[in-house]
Amino acid sequence: MQKIHQIKYKNKKIKIYWCKLNDCFAVYDPNYYTLHIRNDLNNKDLAKTIYHELWHIIAVINKKEIIKIGEEKTAELAEEFYTLFKQNPKLRKFLNDLY
Ligand SMILES: [Zn+2]
Repeated sequence: MQKIHQIKYKNKKIKIYWCKLNDCFAVYDPNYYTLHIRNDLNNKDLAKTIYHELWHIIAVINKKEIIKIGEEKTAELAEEFYTLFKQNPKLRKFLNDLY
C-alpha cells in the first residue's frame, strides 16, 4: 500500500511522518502542522486513527473548541470531511484500501 505523506486542508499543508510511537497511535501538532502516525498499526486501527486525527485537524483549523460548541455545531464541522477528501484524492483512496 502506498503511504501518504501530506494532507491538504483549506490553505494548510499537514506533513505526515510514519514512525514509532510508544504511548499513542498518532499525534497531531497544530503549531507545526505535522501528523506523526505509528507505522505498525493494523488497517482497522489505522483507518480509525486517521479519522480521529482528521477530526482534530478540522476542529483546530476551524478554531472550534468541540466541548464548548455543542452537538449541532460539532455536526456541522463533520461536514468538513467532504472538503478534506475533495482536496485529497490520495487520502480518499488510501482510506478506502484500508477496508
Ligand atoms: Zn485525540
